[in-house]
Amino acid sequence: MGGTGPPALPSLRQQLQRQLSAPLPEQPELVLVTDLDGTLLGGATAERRGFYRWLAQRRERVLHVFCTGRDLSSIARVLQQDEPIGLAAPHLVIGDVGCTVACGASLVPVPLAVDPIEARWSGLEQRLLPLLEAQPGLSPQPVHSSRRLAYSVDLERFDRGLIPALEAHGVDCLISDNQYFDVLPAGVNKGSTLLSLLDWLEVDAATVVTAGDSLNDLAMFETGLKGVMVANAEPDLVAQLPRLPSVYRARAEGCAGIAEGLRHFGFAHLWD
Ligand SMILES: [Mg+2]
Repeated sequence: MGGTGPPALPSLRQQLQRQLSAPLPEQPELVLVTDLDGTLLGGATAERRGFYRWLAQRRERVLHVFCTGRDLSSIARVLQQDEPIGLAAPHLVIGDVGCTVACGASLVPVPLAVDPIEARWSGLEQRLLPLLEAQPGLSPQPVHSSRRLAYSVDLERFDRGLIPALEAHGVDCLISDNQYFDVLPAGVNKGSTLLSLLDWLEVDAATVVTAGDSLNDLAMFETGLKGVMVANAEPDLVAQLPRLPSVYRARAEGCAGIAEGLRHFGFAHLWD
């Protein structure tokens, strides 16, 4: 009776890999999680070119994750627009402020990560839309996504008293960059989705560095993972620095700030 027992269940990492169309690096030395606007897309073009080239040459050593408020079609547009200056697709994408996770190569959503968020969002949109309709200072953004509602906000005209009324339905409201107003399933944000993804990746948290510039990045910085706040960060985010001990404030903007932060956190050897 040479029992080998039941076949081993696939690891979390294997389950994730099966839902992606391109292989992840086996043993990344760094997991780099970057916001897009103002961060990976920020800074002078020459510095962006240099940083994108560096990233492209280290695809096996650096597992790159976009973590953005943009939806998947808008991410596809950015990849196309900035391809001439060397921006390459990441390994993974967190989009819609944490409400979407997709394969970086195909931009196809990953059910393992998205289904639980979908379940939390179920029924909310129908209940919330009547409350949001015709609110002064709010105009819907053309975002092609479920699991969130996205608006442009004019803070001079917007009545913040609406926020508790919305949140009573089981959502979180997030104002970012003084111009974006997002309604997300309660507890779902860039930070929570990143932590779930890191569980599936089975990587050491010490190898993870996040980077961002606006208030929707605060949840990433609150995870306790190493973080880089680029020099051009919005003042309301900068004001949070004293309670974010794992976050480094870069002197440089955008891509140059990310590179500065990586060196600060001891990843200079990745430039060798
Ligand atoms: Mg940003």
